[in-house]
Amino acid sequence: MKVLVFANQKGGVGKTTSAISIAAALGIKGKKTLVIDFDPQGNASSGLGVRKPQVTSYDIIIGRRTAGDAIVKTKYKNLDVIPANMALAAAEFELADLENRESKLKTALEPIQEKYDYAVIDCPPSLGLLTLNALAAGDGVIIPMQCEYFSLEGLSQIMMTVKQVKKLYNPALTLTGILITMYNGRLNLSVSVLDELKKYYADKLFKTPIQRNVRISEAPSYGMPIQYYDKYSRGSLQYADVAAEIMERI
Ligand code: ADP
Ligand code: MG
Repeated sequence: MKVLVFANQKGGVGKTTSAISIAAALGIKGKKTLVIDFDPQGNASSGLGVRKPQVTSYDIIIGRRTAGDAIVKTKYKNLDVIPANMALAAAEFELADLENRESKLKTALEPIQEKYDYAVIDCPPSLGLLTLNALAAGDGVIIPMQCEYFSLEGLSQIMMTVKQVKKLYNPALTLTGILITMYNGRLNLSVSVLDELKKYYADKLFKTPIQRNVRISEAPSYGMPIQYYDKYSRGSLQYADVAAEIMERI
């Protein structure tokens, strides 16, 4: 199982949307895929049609239940989820004093290593203990970001965190790619930020930016990934391209 971590300390940049859409695309391409909702807001769970989960990612990181206990099958091809709810918010504090507090998720996932081709972790909008656990369990990091001026500062911050986690806890961790979300090519600012990114991160930028597309924002309220909500929409096709690129990279 290759573990892909969708992380960015900024909220509203498209982490959850990208995690769900790419996981669904991987499933459609025949890869057994597990989404791990690691944000107390539980948006990845509800976006996949899972509401009021019984066993959650909280239970598995505090060691109360096994990962296997928490897996819920979705209606979608090759796609399961370990859901989350508000209980996970307490984990930041409860883990703080424990030994090996950064490796709880990694340990919890060991028994299901062979069950999936990919796990996709949807992180909360912070670089706290939850994101740290996700990075420590990860093989690759995917950073979704918008093409805005302040995004560039945020990017260097998360890159630094990734570097530190790699050094301290997880030498195998690599940056799989930077994914542009909600792109609007008619905005001069977006174009110039993208040019800047290309200058510094040419080999890390995914070739396909995800354009702003209203169908993408409608899909979660139906509990559907975009590929099932509107198969031939631009968003669906662009996320499929990115999933293909990920499969080449990792
Ligand atoms: P995060 O998980 O980083 O907080 P979300 O994935 O929840 O971000 O996205 C934030 C908001 O933007 C959501 O309302 C989502 O539906 C919307 N959104 C994400 N990507 C797109 C897109 N390509 N086009 C239009 N709306 C989008
Ligand atoms: Mg989110």
